[in-house]
Amino acid sequence: MMRYLFVLLLAMMLVLAACSNDEPDTDEESQTGEEVEQSEDQETDEEQDESEETNEEDSQDSEEEQNEDEQTTDKQNEPQESQYELTEHWSLTPIDDAESDVVLLTIDDAPDGNALEMAENLNELDASAIFFVNGIFMEDEESQDIVKQIHDMGFPIGNHTYGHKSLKDLSEEEQYEEIISLNELIEEVTGEKPEYFRAPHGLNTDYARDLIADEGMLLMNWSYGYDFMEGYMEKEELTDIMVNTDLLSSGANLLMHDREWTNEALEDIVEGLRDKGYEMLDPELILNPHKD
Ligand SMILES: [Zn+2]
Repeated sequence: MMRYLFVLLLAMMLVLAACSNDEPDTDEESQTGEEVEQSEDQETDEEQDESEETNEEDSQDSEEEQNEDEQTTDKQNEPQESQYELTEHWSLTPIDDAESDVVLLTIDDAPDGNALEMAENLNELDASAIFFVNGIFMEDEESQDIVKQIHDMGFPIGNHTYGHKSLKDLSEEEQYEEIISLNELIEEVTGEKPEYFRAPHGLNTDYARDLIADEGMLLMNWSYGYDFMEGYMEKEELTDIMVNTDLLSSGANLLMHDREWTNEALEDIVEGLRDKGYEMLDPELILNPHKD
């Protein structure tokens, strides 16, 4: 009991520390997406339920996939077989014998000046990533075209809400609008409905979780990220911590942003991760239990 209280207190302190960050940018995210989450009540129960669902659907999926294999189709856009599952700590774990030394790259708050160059660099490096976009950054034709180009290079476009507001401060109607209006805009621009969702600051509500699942989307926070924290808004410092943090482990979900210093550090981060033996995970291989 004492240990639980201590962990809870620690989590609350981290949330407070994250919230007291007064940088002008919108992000007051915590270094690990998990700690914010664990401070919320009922979290553990919900997530256990979710992983049970995942396991059930997983076995159904394998049966379906076996049937599909027998039919030998050569259709375009045939969904690839899922090889990784999102854990309750937001990391990715291999389903069967998929390579375990992988990490997932994610770029939030796009497109805000650097996203296209970041996508081109990643493309050049043959490294996958999810770009989580905001509606406020894609209101004009030029930025919409950038999102389309990033999508057409093969990077999944994720929903990071229209206005980057904390979902916890919004009514259910407002949350619906923040999420669904951006789904519609992304689909209009790319021709494809987004499959991934990440809440601003990693702060989710029960309502948003249900809505995301109903929309057939996969909700994720992250394992670690630093580019929004003081001391890491420089190429060298950011590269060093992203590659050498103790939090780097197989399946880690890496949070980065559309920022100048992250753009500058990106190539070194990818190469540093590869030097450590990690390949960038293709998001298409992640199981989405809510997808029909
Ligand atoms: Zn954000």
